[in-house]
Amino acid sequence: MSEPDFENRTVLVTGGSRGIGRACCERLARAGANVAINYHSRGEDALATARLVEIHGGKAIVTQADVTDPQAVAAMVAEVNDQLGPIDMLVNNAGIFEYVTHEKMTLDHWKRTIDANLTSLYIVTWAVKKQMIERQFGRIVNMSSISALRPRPYGIAYAASKAGIVAFTQSTADALIPHNIRINAVAPGLIDTEIIKDVDQPTIDRIIEQTPMKRIGQAEEIADVVHFLLSEASSFMMGQTLVASGGRVMLP
Ligand code: NAP
Repeated sequence: MSEPDFENRTVLVTGGSRGIGRACCERLARAGANVAINYHSRGEDALATARLVEIHGGKAIVTQADVTDPQAVAAMVAEVNDQLGPIDMLVNNAGIFEYVTHEKMTLDHWKRTIDANLTSLYIVTWAVKKQMIERQFGRIVNMSSISALRPRPYGIAYAASKAGIVAFTQSTADALIPHNIRINAVAPGLIDTEIIKDVDQPTIDRIIEQTPMKRIGQAEEIADVVHFLLSEASSFMMGQTLVASGGRVMLP
């Protein structure tokens, strides 16, 4: 059991209804945070996450918003402020993945993916940064992917969106560190969540074979990295993209 180092802190986790986002909500609640759980369509799942947060003694609210919609995001941030106070920490986690080959790819797919995975980070970060600047405190973690670093033929828009997050993380980290807003990213390898439901078993088996640890990861293992990057244990780190992939991608 770790120290409750986030006591009295409010964290907003986008896409907190399930998968990695849910594991982040639970991990951050275990560290003492009050958690705003954003969801898009799965309200029941978000409520289930809220119950997990409350088990750890944290306050939880669920807040519906499509993170690609600036007005909905502004309303969500206002709701979090009303109910939990100013946002100290943000996990830009919400995202989509559609398994699409280059032959099947369309402009609609490209725009949907870039909107959900990259433009959303601009929208949500810009909606919370004012209050972070006013309070001269903020911690942000963005969810990239090893797709940003290792090309794959069946997720071209996804890879582009996740590579964009690496650059967005570096640039915003540089721009906002004078205000004590520290920004980093995580690049998970294959993690056991619903997002990979369209990936066929032979592809998953091949990925496992290419992974030195010979397994896929669990959402909780990514939540631990997110906790680390939000915490003062990473106090000299900014603009980094930390890879957690069982060794599938190893950066220098
Ligand atoms: P998941 O189980 O499919 O969860 C996706 C989450 O994103 C859900 O909470 C969903 O909300 C939310 N979401 C999607 N579009 C949204 C929108 N427009 N507005 C608000 N919320 C939205 O997937 P996951 O694996 O946990 O993925 C979380 C993040 O990790 C994603 O950014 C993904 O790209 C990244 N990642 C995952 C893996 C992996 O192998 N699993 C690897 C690398 C990176 P609803 O439940 O309401 O629909």
